[in-house]
Amino acid sequence: MTQVVIEKSKLADLISFLAASQKVVGPVSLGHGQFKFAEISSFDDLALDYIPTILPPKKYFMPQHETLLKYDLGKGQEMQAVVEVEELVLFGVHTCDLAGIQCLNVVFSDRPKDLNYMLRKNHITLIGLECNDYCDSYANCAMLRNHLPKGGYDLFFSELSDCYAVDINTHQGELIVEESGLFAPASAAAQEELAALRQAKKAIFKSEVPIRYQDIPRLFDETFESDVWTKIGEKCLSCGNCTNVCPTCYCFAVMDEPELDLTKGRRVGVWDSCQHEYFAKIAGGESFRETRADRKRHRFNRKFRYPMVRYKRVFCTGCGRCSRSCMAKIDLKETISALMEERG
Ligand code: SF4
Ligand code: SF4
Repeated sequence: MTQVVIEKSKLADLISFLAASQKVVGPVSLGHGQFKFAEISSFDDLALDYIPTILPPKKYFMPQHETLLKYDLGKGQEMQAVVEVEELVLFGVHTCDLAGIQCLNVVFSDRPKDLNYMLRKNHITLIGLECNDYCDSYANCAMLRNHLPKGGYDLFFSELSDCYAVDINTHQGELIVEESGLFAPASAAAQEELAALRQAKKAIFKSEVPIRYQDIPRLFDETFESDVWTKIGEKCLSCGNCTNVCPTCYCFAVMDEPELDLTKGRRVGVWDSCQHEYFAKIAGGESFRETRADRKRHRFNRKFRYPMVRYKRVFCTGCGRCSRSCMAKIDLKETISALMEERG
């Protein structure tokens, strides 16, 4: 339920208020219709009318390259665990990306807990922003039911005609509202306008693939031996773009980076991808998923079927990043449609 509003003219003051005490990150334009999350110093840096950024905000929760420990095997024989944490406000996160962060939260708080992730997450303030229009043909948030806010944020902004309606979801959100002094109680007119906006979204956000959310895992179960995977495997380049840009792909490798004297160094975590051939290789050179078709099928099942069993949720947010960034033009919506057609 909306509790407060902020006038549009006061948004710049809010960014200044937040940036005075911590790093503020938001969507910025790269030109050519592309966007990224980056540090901003003022409201003017923000591009609030944006389609999903190239990389999702997961890069702030699990960095692409993260130091886990430092070691010195010289006289002192020292080893020190490292947690890279900074106070951060993520401003303007869409509902699909909020859903992606919630997926990561359940994975990294599952046993064994990833303490680096949990500590970092506790230092990030999340301010969401509602999409009032469908972003592009790659997205499919309505099929995955992620076009409306469902928690996972501290504050959530919905743009109305002359102000933003703001939902306060946490104590941290409450503090920002109280201490900034920039918000006012939501009037009945603002509440009505928000209700009308949500009603209008029903006609705008529609799944283009005619399948119910709860039926998706069964589709992947029943099409495990489908020819669709062979055809996709023939196109796939195994580049790993799709996993890098995916807000819910969380696989990482742990490796050592020794210094030249071989006594000092650090152990790091770096993003990895199940689309690479070496990923499923085991001792003796055997591979669980030797072909590109095997690996693509695995990725789709890791989005739509296996997490439903373990976490009771689909791990696709509908952001469309994998389809948008695939050089081989492998499209998620087309793949699901092809599987439905083949199953009949
Ligand atoms: S981005 Fe496309 S080509 Fe690259 S691994 Fe993913 S599906 Fe294959
Ligand atoms: S599978 Fe594709 S559409 Fe789904 S969350 Fe990942 S990048 Fe987004």
